[in-house]
Amino acid sequence: MRIGIDWGGTSIKAAIVDGANLRGFTRVNTRIDAGPEVVLDDIARLVKVLGAKPAGVGLAIPGEVRDDGRCWRLPNVPGFEDVNIAAELHERIGCPVGVENDAIAAALAERLYGWGNTYRSFLLVTLGTGIGGGLVLDGEVRRGRAGFSGEIGHVMIDSSEDAWPCGCGRTGCMEAYAGTAGLLRRYAIKGGRAGSIKQIADADDEGSEEVWKQLGNALGTGLACINNVLDLDAVIFTGGVANSFARVEPHLREALKARAFAPPLAEIPFEISKLGEHAGVIGAAHLPTERAPSDSGRLFPAPPLPR
Ligand SMILES: [Zn+2]
Repeated sequence: MRIGIDWGGTSIKAAIVDGANLRGFTRVNTRIDAGPEVVLDDIARLVKVLGAKPAGVGLAIPGEVRDDGRCWRLPNVPGFEDVNIAAELHERIGCPVGVENDAIAAALAERLYGWGNTYRSFLLVTLGTGIGGGLVLDGEVRRGRAGFSGEIGHVMIDSSEDAWPCGCGRTGCMEAYAGTAGLLRRYAIKGGRAGSIKQIADADDEGSEEVWKQLGNALGTGLACINNVLDLDAVIFTGGVANSFARVEPHLREALKARAFAPPLAEIPFEISKLGEHAGVIGAAHLPTERAPSDSGRLFPAPPLPR
């Protein structure tokens, strides 16, 4: 029996996971400014609340993980530079713990229980506060040499002097335009007032159309760069904004066509994740709790592939 935990911006979710099925779902608010000890204690408490003695626990985190298990830094959570979260949790919980970037964990779930049974090579794109990505090539979930594989959000799509600033400290990243802050900014420029993407979707006015256009342009421009290199089988979208995907898709397709090196690269299928909001928890539960040197660069010895 395994437990999956998904550490998100507003809450940390946990469940006992059997295949793609969840039992005993529980959550706690993320105390971002409380420091690593408090957050790690909160996570350990979630495992205890589930009242089971798991064989393993997997945790999806909002940041990247080094090959040795330490995280680089969590851009939105201070104090975690170089912390070995797996080792810290192992001390608190007493069972093996695997830790991985949240988008890579979601890509693992999609590989095992979603579109990964249809497509061999795909990029999973998480649309939310930030833009994340997880890359699956020939059935293998790639984590890369340093744990950053698939991180599409910081592909540069605007190199002009007045490019918008990104949370990563640079300017002109895809996330600066396609992340929540960039979309709210566009809505405000058009004279609208909204505190969330859902409010913009509900408003369904001229400003919201501009927002979907900006999102489609940004995604299409960034994805063209990626697909010109990788020639993938599909792009899978997940996250709250995926609910408005029908409004975004025409703009996305147009931008992709304008930037793709050749027509077939612009015809790549788009899909919405089959796993919905629980992809992170499901993927986390299936993370390996040990990493063999021979697995460097990839996450998982691959199960059978779709034909
Ligand atoms: Zn950036």
